[in-house]
Order: sequence, then structure tokens, then C-alpha cells
Amino acid sequence: MIDFEFEPHVKAQLKMYHAVAEGLMRPISREYDEREHEKPWQFYETMWAAAQNLGPGAAPEKSSSEKSEKGEKRDGTAKLRNLYTCLSTEELCWGDAGLFLSIPNPGLGGAAVAAAGTPEQKERFLKRFREGKPKWGAMAITEPGCGSDSAAITTMAVRDGDEWVINGTKIFCTAGQMSAEKSEGFVVVWATLDRTAGRAGIKPFVVEHHTSGMTVTRVENKLGIRASDTAMIVFDNCRVPANHLLGSAEVKPTGGFKDVMATFDATRPIVAAMAIGVGRAALDYVRDFLAEQNIPIRYGISPRRLTAVERDFMEMEVQLKAARLLTWRAAWMLDMGMRNSLEASMAKAKAGKAVTLITQKAVELLGPLGYSRKVLVEKWMRDAKINDIFEGTQQINLMIIARRILDYSSKELN
Ligand SMILES: Cc1cc2nc3c(=O)[nH]c(=O)nc-3n(C[C@H](O)[C@H](O)[C@H](O)COP(=O)(O)OP(=O)(O)OC[C@H]3O[C@@H](n4cnc5c(N)ncnc54)[C@H](O)[C@@H]3O)c2cc1C
Repeated sequence: MIDFEFEPHVKAQLKMYHAVAEGLMRPISREYDEREHEKPWQFYETMWAAAQNLGPGAAPEKSSSEKSEKGEKRDGTAKLRNLYTCLSTEELCWGDAGLFLSIPNPGLGGAAVAAAGTPEQKERFLKRFREGKPKWGAMAITEPGCGSDSAAITTMAVRDGDEWVINGTKIFCTAGQMSAEKSEGFVVVWATLDRTAGRAGIKPFVVEHHTSGMTVTRVENKLGIRASDTAMIVFDNCRVPANHLLGSAEVKPTGGFKDVMATFDATRPIVAAMAIGVGRAALDYVRDFLAEQNIPIRYGISPRRLTAVERDFMEMEVQLKAARLLTWRAAWMLDMGMRNSLEASMAKAKAGKAVTLITQKAVELLGPLGYSRKVLVEKWMRDAKINDIFEGTQQINLMIIARRILDYSSKELN
């Protein structure tokens, strides 16, 4: 039997995340959308302190001894870590997706360490997120000349004695400024050891905060998720110790790029969950608005009798639920140790499209109020679109799905 009921301790945690979203995020949502480059430090301090206790999804991977101390093994939360991360992500993004992305945590940089690092590197680089002051992690793949085609990376890493020397420019790096300049975090930068080797030559490097040669040269002004910093970072003869290359330096025909893909398999369901949180915020707002206006949503009647508003609202609900089920499946497969590349792309593509549709419909159904800055609905419409862009655009994820279903290689279908 398929059972979608969560255990009581999970429900209790989700209630807590919802309280954070409603009580701490919503009240500052508009302020940090308008003051794009200002930082809500008090909120960060609170979230950092809470992350040490909130449980799955809030704090980075713990060591096995810490897990048993917290009883995670007993209650099964460690086993379903990715699924529960998606649940908490949905709750927090119901609060505010930009603020969610700016919460101090290992972020995409941590996901890359987890996917590509050795056990010793995971311990060495992720330990800091369990102690001290708030810290951020970021991942830099995209360059001025390459985004979707990440195999075309031109940033170079050259070995010089006990160090790697990195040269190149990365753009649109989420939490790049916080990781590189404003905390004791790090940026995972993907660079090629050998351009002639194509994808196989691309490797991830951990560049510590304030490393000489790493400079944040621009922070973007954006359409949505404006509370999250998005940085351009230049690497100019930036030297990192040899053991900051994650995994092996060997250039194997099947290696290297596989780690980028493994990172996306873990992060795409989380981005899908972000989208679902924003979509649910818009849907909840419309539901309450219609109820206040005494406009009923009648379920279970013939489709021919539905009003246009009812049909639109039900379509929004259906899209959200379909995206959520795909997302849970992709995350659950990862928790079970199953290969989930197809499902992760399906969840990401569906959720990106669904949230774009839902938030646009919400603005439309609310009329002038939806377009006004008096309420957050127009902001959610702006926040929604990014889910169709980063971690693989809508089109790229659809192409990955087609490749996997039809069994084409990336050379055969691109
Ligand atoms: C707010 C924000 C945060 C980001 N954060 C990060 C981050 O933390 N780290 C990071 O490395 N990057 C990040 N990115 C970059 C993001 O991943 C890229 O923007 C994305 O991968 C698309 O790359 P591109 O911008 O070069 O667009 P392009 O690859 O030039 O694509 C432009 C358009 O063409 C389409 N397209 C491209 N190739 C094909 C194809 N073969 N078939 C069909 N259509 C195609 C795309 O879908 C898109 O619609 C971020 C971007 C934004 C906007």
C-alpha cells in the first residue's frame, strides 16, 4: 500500500518550520525584497542557532556518533534525510524563497562536497557548519560563456607543487558573496585540468573564504529571490592546497563530470520543493481571498458546471500536487540509494513550470490586488521563475528526461 502519512515527530517538526516561515520570514519578506543587498543578520543568527537543534534538513550531515546521540537512527529521520529536507524546504519557502536561500548553511557548496569529496574531505570541510558563527557555502560552475553546457567550462586549474592555481571567471553564484567574503565559508569552484579531455577533465575545488586571488567583483540586481546574493567571482592566480581538489585528480573518461551530475541529482528535488513552497503560498492566498469574497470552490461536481474560477483554482491545485509527488519520489529514491537522475529532472521540470503557472494565475485571479505591492502575490510571481532557470533550465531538464527515456547519449540528443 502507498502511505503518504508522516510520522508524528515529522509532523511536529514541519509545524515548527511553518511557525518559522510565518513568524520570522513573512514579516521581513517585503523589506528584504526591496532592500536587495541588505542582510537580515538577526534572522540569520536565529536560524543558525535553531539549525543545530531543528533536525533533518536544517543542519548539515552529522557524524554517525552525533546521529545516534540525537536518536536520528532510532526514529528513522537520518534514513529519509533527502525527503525530509524537501518537506522542510517547502515549508520555509512558503515563508520566503529568497530568505530561505540566504539562510547560513553549506548550500550547493556542501552538496558538491557531499557528492564528490572523500570521507575525510567531507568531515574536514563540513565540520565548521556544526559550530561557531553563521557560515555559508556556494558552488560556482556557470561562466560568462557557459551555463547550460557546463561541460564547456574554461576556468583552468594547474598544479604547481603542493598547490592548484585557479584562473577564470564565474557568474551567478548563489550565496557567493556570503561564502567568499562575509563568513568563514567556502566556494566550490569547478575548473578543468585539461581542456582537451572535455567533461572528464572537470574537477571541483574548495576555495576557502578570503583566499587571495578570489574576488567578488559584482553582486547582481535581480527580478526575484532578491534576499539571496548572486555573485560574480573572479579567480586570478588563486592558490589552494592540493588536497582541496574534491575526490581524485585522475582524469578518467567516465570521471569528473559524473560528480556534477551527482550533485544535481541531490539538489534538483530541493529546488523543486522550493518551487512547491512558493506555489503553495500563492494557492493558500487565493483560497483565503475567495473564501473572504464568498466565492465557493465546489469539488465533485461535473466539470461542465464549474465556473472559470473553480476550474483555474483546481488546475493550480492539481499542478502543485503532481509536482510534489514527483519531488517526494525523486528525494525518496536518493534516500534509498537508487539512481534518481530521471526523477530528479522530472520533479525539477514539473515544479518549475507548475509554480510559474500557479503564481501567474494567482496574480490574475486577484485582479488589481494581485499586481499591487500591498500583498506578496506579485513577489511570489517574481520569485517563482528562478526555479525554471537554475540547477538546469526547464529546457535542459526536459532534454535530460527525453535522453533517459529514449536511451540517447548527450552526444545523440543535445
Ligand atoms: C539567480 C540565479 C542564481 C544562480 N545560482 C547559480 C549557482 O549558485 N551556481 C552556478 O554555477 N550557477 C548558478 N546560476 C546559473 C544558472 O545555473 C544558469 O543561468 C543556467 O544554467 C542557464 O545557463 P545560462 O544562463 O548560461 O543560459 P544558456 O545556457 O545560455 O541558456 C539560454 C536559454 O537557452 C536554452 N537552452 C540552452 N541550451 C539548450 C539546448 N541544448 N536545447 C534547448 N534549449 C537550450 C536554455 O534553457 C535557456 O532558456 C544561477 C542563475 C541565476 C539566475
